[in-house]
Amino acid sequence: MTILHDLNVDLHTHSKASDGSLSPSEVMERALSNDVDIVALTDHDTIEGVNEAMQYTEGKNIYFIPGVEISTSWAGVCIHVLGLNINPNDEQLKKSLSKIQDGRYSRAQLMDKDLTDKGFPSVIQDALEFAGGTGQVGRAHFARALIKKELCEDMREVFNKFLIKGKPGFVDHQWPSLKSVMEIIKKSKGLGVIAHPARYRLNYSMLTYLLEEFQELGGVGLEVSTGSHSALDIENFKRITNDFRFEGSRGSDFHCPNESRYDVGKAPYLPDSLLPIWSRWKAERVF
Ligand code: AMP
Ligand code: MN
Ligand code: MN
Ligand code: MN
Repeated sequence: MTILHDLNVDLHTHSKASDGSLSPSEVMERALSNDVDIVALTDHDTIEGVNEAMQYTEGKNIYFIPGVEISTSWAGVCIHVLGLNINPNDEQLKKSLSKIQDGRYSRAQLMDKDLTDKGFPSVIQDALEFAGGTGQVGRAHFARALIKKELCEDMREVFNKFLIKGKPGFVDHQWPSLKSVMEIIKKSKGLGVIAHPARYRLNYSMLTYLLEEFQELGGVGLEVSTGSHSALDIENFKRITNDFRFEGSRGSDFHCPNESRYDVGKAPYLPDSLLPIWSRWKAERVF
C-alpha cells in the first residue's frame, strides 16, 4: 500500500459528448464534490468534451487527465481501449475518431432497420436526439429511445431483450483493429488500458492471446476496478494484471446518475498489490 493507492482516482467517465447524460463540466463538478483527486474524461470514440472538462477543472483542487475510450475489433470481439493522457490536439487522433463516428452513424441506420424488419417501431430519430444530433450515436441512445417508446422499462431490460447479439437491433459492426487503435494512442502520447476486461467473457486461452498481443502493441494497463466488475472479477483480474506485469486502473464508467452502478470516484479502491497506473503521473505534479 502506498500513498498513491489512497488517492481517490477515477479514470473512466462519460459525458454528453458520447453516451453520458451530464455535460463535461457537470461530470467534473461531481468529481470535485466526491473528493476525487485525479479524474479522466473518457468518452466513447470522441474527445469533444475534453476541452470543457479541462477548463472547468483548471485552478481547482483536482488533477485532470484527458482521455478517450476507443471501440476496437479484435478476433471478432469488440474490445474497449482507454487512451489515458492523450494529447487532445493530436490531429491524427481527431481524424481517426471522426472516422469511427461516421461508422457509428451507418451502424445506427442498420440497427434501426433491424428493429423495423423485426416488427418494432423505428427509434432512430429519438436515438439521434438523445445523442445530441452528433455522429456519436450508440447503443445507450437506442436503449433510452426504446425506454421512451415504452418497449422496455430500464437499461437492464433493454440489454437483455435488444441490442445484443441474437436480439433485435444488434448489428455486428466492424470497429478499427486493436493494432491500429494502439498505434493512434501511442502516437498521441497516451497510455493504452483495456477497459472492463471481464466483460468480454473470453476463455482463458483467448484472454491470454489478447493480453499478449495488447502488451506487444504497447498496452500498459488493465482496468481492474470498474462499474461492470464483480468482486470476483476484481480478484481474478488482480492476479492476471500482476502475472502479466500490467499496471492496474480504476474507473467508475459513470454515465448517468440513475443508470450507473457507481457515481464518479465511487468504484472500489484498487487492490494493494497492484501498481496503480497513475504512478506514471507522479513526476508531473506532487499529488
Ligand atoms: P456502443 O459503444 O454504441 O456499442 O454502446 C455500448 C454502450 O452501451 C456501453 O458503453 C454502455 O453505455 C451501454 N451498455 C452496454 N451494455 C449495457 C448493459 N448491459 N447495461 C447498461 N448499459 C449497457
Ligand atoms: Mn457507454
Ligand atoms: Mn466500455
Ligand atoms: Mn465506458
